[in-house]
Amino acid sequence: MVLLYDFIAELIFHFLIMMLIPFIHKISSHWSGRWRTFVPFLSVLIVALFLTMTFPVEITGSQFFDLKFIPIFVAFFYISSFAGFFTIFILISIKGFLSPEDIWFALINYTIISVLFYFAGKFYKDRTFGQKVSIAALFYLPITITRYVIFLQRDLKEEGVYLLLFSAVSIITLSMIIYLIEMNLLQEEIMQKVKNAEKINAISQLAASVAHEIRNPMTTVKGFLQMIKDEKNLTANQKSFIKVSLEELDRTNHIISDFLSLARPDTAAARKVYLSELLLEVADFMRPYGLMSKVEIKTSIFEGIYIVGNPNEMKQLFINLLKNSIEAMPGGGILEVSAYKKNTTADIQIKDEGVGMSNETVQMLGQPYYSTKTKGTGLGLMISFDIISRLNGKYSIESTEGKGTTFTISLPLYYSSEEVLSPSYHNGTEGQQVKET
Ligand code: ADP
Ligand code: MG
Repeated sequence: MVLLYDFIAELIFHFLIMMLIPFIHKISSHWSGRWRTFVPFLSVLIVALFLTMTFPVEITGSQFFDLKFIPIFVAFFYISSFAGFFTIFILISIKGFLSPEDIWFALINYTIISVLFYFAGKFYKDRTFGQKVSIAALFYLPITITRYVIFLQRDLKEEGVYLLLFSAVSIITLSMIIYLIEMNLLQEEIMQKVKNAEKINAISQLAASVAHEIRNPMTTVKGFLQMIKDEKNLTANQKSFIKVSLEELDRTNHIISDFLSLARPDTAAARKVYLSELLLEVADFMRPYGLMSKVEIKTSIFEGIYIVGNPNEMKQLFINLLKNSIEAMPGGGILEVSAYKKNTTADIQIKDEGVGMSNETVQMLGQPYYSTKTKGTGLGLMISFDIISRLNGKYSIESTEGKGTTFTISLPLYYSSEEVLSPSYHNGTEGQQVKET
């Protein structure tokens, strides 16, 4: 029978060995290149495995326990099944060296464990922290129970208490390691997102400045064309060419203005915006894009809907949603944009007859870079949802695969003090449907 004091000292020793794992994981994550994170991380698992097996915790004179379960678990679930099999190979080699008489037992035991871990690996990845810890406990519990039952059979009741204490420390240690590694991975992921966002921001700013620079030479060209237009001895053909050229220049200018209003980092303050008109403008703006794939845009928008916000952002929001709907109907169809007042909100509905989405896809929406399109960026909805939340709005999505999708957005209505005092302010226009196309 060992002394409690020694026992606790040994537990602390094993705990510290295992804490090397998240520590090295954290340090090596700053290094670039795949093998660099792979090699130090796998090495620390093997070092931990070696130390815990060489200096096991003594429970009774003949019973020794260690934490080798932990490095095996981490190798399987945080590196790869290959790394897992490799650590098991090392484990069996160490076992063969330390106590060759137990090698068959270890071989059978760990072959079963590795097969279980191999199949659990796919399931583990997308779980929450709590679920991951439960999975770890689920694997560890049967081991503890069998050991405890063996202890009881041999009438080692007091040692059984030590065993339970030991098992509790193992599972707490493993949970802490999972927590630390998960936190570390989360931090890396966030850093990566910030970096990417910065890159996109820089690119869009560059694009905006290029677009702006194109305007100057265009003004010169336009000026000269206007001068030539007034020449007397031009043929009818030449006159019409110049006329068309001037029109095309105007169109180009228009496109650049629209692009700039989207790409320029927009710091314009929130103000009262006439949403009914803005929606019609966006629908008109998107019509040519729709016609390219035979999509007809229908609008049914009530007059007199005012909201507060940044108009450029609102345009961007609706352009993104209309663009997605059009892209969901490659073979053509009808896209309906409707807007009406409902109590204190303006409800805008964008309804398409496109490919629709599965429930899984709907769950993924708004995550950066999530796109099912070959040329998609997966940023449209992320930006859109961000804009909706800044407008203090809400949204809901209804989608059926093969049938179509309806986006509904509710934004708070603008109320001026004048309107509150005299509700008849908008009489004549309010609630009246203005434009159906
Ligand atoms: P992108 O359009 O660049 O792919 P988005 O963030 O705008 O990125 O959209 C993300 C994904 O959501 C799309 O790739 C598509 O799979 C899905 N999606 C969005 N809107 C619709 C829609 N109206 N119908 C079907 N799928 C849609
Ligand atoms: Mg899109």
